Amino acid sequence: MKLEIEAARITRIKPSASVAAKALANELVAAGHDIVDFTAGEPDFDTPANISLAAYEAATRGETRYTATSGTVALRDAIKAKFARENGLTYVRNQILVANGAKHVIYTAFTVTVQEGDEVIVPAPYWVSYPDIVTLNGGTPVIVPCGQDAGFKLTPQALEAAITQRTKWLILNSPSNPTGAVYSHDELVALGEVLKRHPHVWVMTDDIYEHLIYDGLKYVTFAAAVPELYERTLTINGVSKAYAMTGWRIGYAGGPRPLIAAMDKLMSQSTGGAGSVSQAAAREALEGPQDFVWSSREAFEARRNLIVKLLNSIDGVRCLTPNGAFYVYPEVGAFIGRSTPQGKRIETDKDLQLYLLEAAKVAVLDGGAYGLSPHLRLSFATSNQRIEEGCRRIGEALAALN
Ligand code: PMP
Ligand code: GLU
Repeated sequence: MKLEIEAARITRIKPSASVAAKALANELVAAGHDIVDFTAGEPDFDTPANISLAAYEAATRGETRYTATSGTVALRDAIKAKFARENGLTYVRNQILVANGAKHVIYTAFTVTVQEGDEVIVPAPYWVSYPDIVTLNGGTPVIVPCGQDAGFKLTPQALEAAITQRTKWLILNSPSNPTGAVYSHDELVALGEVLKRHPHVWVMTDDIYEHLIYDGLKYVTFAAAVPELYERTLTINGVSKAYAMTGWRIGYAGGPRPLIAAMDKLMSQSTGGAGSVSQAAAREALEGPQDFVWSSREAFEARRNLIVKLLNSIDGVRCLTPNGAFYVYPEVGAFIGRSTPQGKRIETDKDLQLYLLEAAKVAVLDGGAYGLSPHLRLSFATSNQRIEEGCRRIGEALAALN
């Protein structure tokens, strides 16, 4: 008998494109190449010192043992207070669950709910991990294209057309990775009207970029905009982006008790819960001073303005101004069908991504990875100086295409 490694469930999925692109950029930098890296899906700032200090103090106080699977009482109470204060959502402690990043919350929610053949509606462009997490759990991602002309947002008509008897979930992500699109209160209400007609559909809202919202917009989460659907909404958030804590691996959710209980049961047999020291740090993030949230938002908004201006000044690039997150998703159809100076034809945005890496030493992601082409995704979680240098190189490389 042959020694097999991979089960069918793992052969069905691909590695995360964003994780892989970042790893390749890191490798090239380590090998001495001067790469302008626009792949990073994480703030370039360090975790604020008060948060790291809280972790140190927790460790030295002896908070180094297993915690309750769904999180410490102190952290769940801090999350409960955060949901009430910032989102107008009321949960009791046992409706809150802490896990190893928002990614792990999403994974756990699908594992405990999705049956073979269940459908999950994923508006495209989407964060790369959604379809694969659905597939890994036996579900079928139903991709609904939401083009640049619709501001990359799901319309009530498109939602209605995508719902079937097998629909289990709709995933909403606002502000969005990769487009930065933000749903308004009224847009959420309009989607809610459709969902009210389909009582078998759950709503998962990924609010991880909540605090990175620009132009004076006020953030509103789905369950607050459509309180009638609170009972079938899982509200997901985390500390990774708002507090520059990607490496601490803390995400959380608020939702209906039976769903949270099922997720807790699975985690009691899988991770056993998130790290105790990271949980102490996350509590300080939520309860401590919030100046970092506001100052990083300001920095990101200024960088957004810069990168949108520079990209739109390149002939053939069409870039919308995102209202949130730290990504831009320019349309690059003008370059498809052109040839590189070496005579290679650019057939797809993936070809363009590879060309930019080789010719311009600029690392970006291709729209294909996010389900809507021909686009590129650039993260502007980097300095103004690197944004200027990167856009200059992109402009030169694109101008060299015949
Ligand atoms: N959702 C979206 C849309 C993201 O971009 C990310 C970033 N990796 C995550 C969830 C996961 O974040 P984390 O697991 O670090 O909490
Ligand atoms: N979410 C980030 C990104 O899209 C981090 C990497 C990942 O987990 O996908 O780049």
